[in-house]
Amino acid sequence: MDVVRTPTNQGWIEVIVGSMFSGKSEELIRRLRRAQIARQRVQIFKPALDTRYGDDHIVSHSEMRIPSSPVASSRALLEQVDADTEVVGIDEGQFFDADLPAVCNTLADRGKRVIVAGLDKDYLGKPFEPMPQMLAIAEYITKTLAICMVCGNPANCTQRLVVSEDRVLLGAQGTYEARCRKCFNPHLAESTSGRASTPNSQLPTPKK
Ligand code: ZN
Repeated sequence: MDVVRTPTNQGWIEVIVGSMFSGKSEELIRRLRRAQIARQRVQIFKPALDTRYGDDHIVSHSEMRIPSSPVASSRALLEQVDADTEVVGIDEGQFFDADLPAVCNTLADRGKRVIVAGLDKDYLGKPFEPMPQMLAIAEYITKTLAICMVCGNPANCTQRLVVSEDRVLLGAQGTYEARCRKCFNPHLAESTSGRASTPNSQLPTPKK
């Protein structure tokens, strides 16, 4: 018997998580492009604080880009989603507030496909809210792995290379590295005795 797919207005949530340099934004952009090619109505959002590459695009480290709207909060995002939008893409989910899971549930309940990309852990290796909650409510989870920049093994951690205890420190090459669990050192960013593997003028001189 043939499986007949009928339009059901059934929504769902997809989450793409991983370390920096693991290709999360690339994967998000790839999925959103497929939807656009199929002429689905797509809206794309990112947190207003992520202004690294200008205000109106999601850009991957490999320079893939797609137009997006910066929003100040999860509630502001919800207000901007049009009734006839079929696919909602959200990048840098870890920079949103605690309302993001509820907002995504609301959108999925309205029949929309919601795709959220974000860091699952911060520079200390701790779960980066609200992404753990997003993982719990998602129908589909994709975990992207980078390659450890020290040893070449699969990397699931984001190593901060400069000394700072701010949880949010925007930057890319030179500020962060992808590392495996063996090479990851959460204390490197908070102490002056950490092992510096990369020459960098901002790093303290290791004690002899
Ligand atoms: Zn390694």
